[in-house]
Amino acid sequence: MRATSTQIDALASQFESASPQEILRWATDTYGNKLAIVTSFQITGIVTLHMLQRIAPQTSVLTLDTGLLFPETYNLIDTLEHQLNLNLKRVKPSQNLQQQAHEYGRQLWIHDPDKCCHLRKTIPLNHALEGYTAWLTGLRRDQSEKRSTTPIISIDSHTGLTKIAPFANWTASMLWMYIKTYNLPYNVLHDRGYPSIGCRTCTQAIKDGDHMRSGRWARTNKTECGIHIDVAMLQS
Ligand code: SF4
Repeated sequence: MRATSTQIDALASQFESASPQEILRWATDTYGNKLAIVTSFQITGIVTLHMLQRIAPQTSVLTLDTGLLFPETYNLIDTLEHQLNLNLKRVKPSQNLQQQAHEYGRQLWIHDPDKCCHLRKTIPLNHALEGYTAWLTGLRRDQSEKRSTTPIISIDSHTGLTKIAPFANWTASMLWMYIKTYNLPYNVLHDRGYPSIGCRTCTQAIKDGDHMRSGRWARTNKTECGIHIDVAMLQS
């Protein structure tokens, strides 16, 4: 079933004081195999996957494999897939890098990163979510100004599905405490100045004191790949 906006607003308010485990339990009970988690295996995703192991371990896991991830990220995905026995699907774009270069030019991420993200992230994700009713995301309010009002539950403007951010009101330090407590694997790039990790072509290390997402699309005014931007804003 698809929730109405009135139901979503009521749940968003109710979930403000709920724990992530309570929200995950509600989501898995409500949506069952029509629920997917979409993760790039950063700290929120790792904690979500660990909690889901105790709640609904067969939940579908989708990760966007643009073909341009860091080797360290691919290693972590392999490790967690086996360690947590994940029901994982690697979502790939319809074109490989050679085909994309042939149609749009080499290094599209430099001369038109919005187009590149649209082709390699947004379109593949929207297709991968067909057949689902709800999805879990690792969005948090402490990640950036644009994300500072992220609701715990909303209706995704791209797909019309229910979008759930169980950790919206958690901070990075709360997640690190959880990861250390349970000794969970994490992306080693986090220890090398990369608090936020995307494609290797568009992510760089930051200096102490820089904002946690400032290494993403640095030297451009782009701050989001597009999957979390409201469709109305993209069209305005
Ligand atoms: S992050 Fe960069 S390389 Fe990856 S899809 Fe977006 S523009 Fe392309």
